[in-house]
Amino acid sequence: MTRPRVLVIGGTNIDFTIKTAHLPAEGETVSDGVFVRAFGGKGANQAVAAARAGGEVALVTCLGSDALARQARASLDADGIDTTHIIEDPDHPSGTALIMLDEQGRNYLAVAPGSNNTLAPAHIEALQSEIAEADMIVLQMEILPGVNERVLGIAACHDRPVVFNYAPTRGVPLRIGEAMSVLVVNENEAAELLGRDTVTERDAAEAAATLLARGPRIAVVTLGAAGLVAVEGERVTRVSGLAVSAVDTTAAGDTFCGCLAAALGEGRPLDAALRFANAAAALATTVMGAQPSIPTREAIEDFLENQGAS
Ligand code: ADP
Repeated sequence: MTRPRVLVIGGTNIDFTIKTAHLPAEGETVSDGVFVRAFGGKGANQAVAAARAGGEVALVTCLGSDALARQARASLDADGIDTTHIIEDPDHPSGTALIMLDEQGRNYLAVAPGSNNTLAPAHIEALQSEIAEADMIVLQMEILPGVNERVLGIAACHDRPVVFNYAPTRGVPLRIGEAMSVLVVNENEAAELLGRDTVTERDAAEAAATLLARGPRIAVVTLGAAGLVAVEGERVTRVSGLAVSAVDTTAAGDTFCGCLAAALGEGRPLDAALRFANAAAALATTVMGAQPSIPTREAIEDFLENQGAS
């Protein structure tokens, strides 16, 4: 296998998670929690997922300059990710997420973007050759929209494909650059982009087709435990969710996107790439935490083989 070059541009967060028997009500203190600190953020998670799936990955993100930022970088290095394009902001803390999680996997989540908002379109100008040489570029919405627009513009100039995970939607209307090859959203994000109350498993294919009409080559709506639906041209592909004992769905969507990017970058056909990413995302729900839960290529292939679906 030639390792695909995957360029991820996006946010990094340090996740502080406490798991408790139930979520506190306003003003309530819930004791006996279990604390886990893990590195997360959609950009970093997707980079880790693409790297563990076999990609040769570079991450462009902006970290603070404190000890946690150094640990986050070291953790990315340990995954073999090229961290040479990471920008350091001495004036803001790294992005931080506070997560409360109960035993059913329900959660409260608050994010302070910190240094993620320092990444600017001007930083992207220096990345022309990295964009031009990437087999796949991956974007999400935890950085300023202007940064993503600049990346899409340069990617279009060089005819490079982009997997765009439009999450979180942040009230930003969908603007499709020519380079947006694959749009990935969950049901809530699909509903927001389409101005609807809900999108469910029943109307997900129609929702994906409506999103497709806005310009991407492929539109994917992920459906949590129910899997996903993808539309390319007239063709609708449904992939069922795989049965797992889910303990924490944090980073399931990110694992899906990173693995999809690596698999498509490697030249897998769309169906196979979707099945691979779906299996990876299911595995990610079986371990607590964002990056600690992201599986390796071997684990994904083994899991698919045991499902008799590889
Ligand atoms: P997000 O994490 O972005 O909200 P989803 O909840 O739709 O997105 O999950 C993304 C993908 O993760 C799904 O398409 C599926 O492949 C996988 N997944 C999520 N939850 C489960 C689960 N409980 N069991 C199996 N697979 C899951």
